[in-house]
Amino acid sequence: MKKVYSDEDRMLAGYVKGILESHGVHCFMKNENLAGAVGELPPHEVWPEVWVTHEHEHERAERIVKDLMVDLGNASDWRCPNCRELIEGQFGECWNCGTEAPQ
Ligand SMILES: [Zn+2]
Repeated sequence: MKKVYSDEDRMLAGYVKGILESHGVHCFMKNENLAGAVGELPPHEVWPEVWVTHEHEHERAERIVKDLMVDLGNASDWRCPNCRELIEGQFGECWNCGTEAPQ
């Protein structure tokens, strides 16, 4: 098992895991439910982590994550047409009301 990604943003880590799974990479999350422990542990130790189950898939997983981060970096923030919430560019729908991002 090898760690391929970690981020303080649990949603983003979950998103990365979903993308890897859609590419057929076996992976799982660690620290998913430790957010409440922040304050007692050094914060970076409780960041959600995405781990690849099989080491031979790690290299491919890293490449997928790298490509994904480039894509996310290019996505710009958008404002929800329904509730006016400002949404980070990597999300395809409003976290507040579920409205899809305008194309
Ligand atoms: Zn909304």
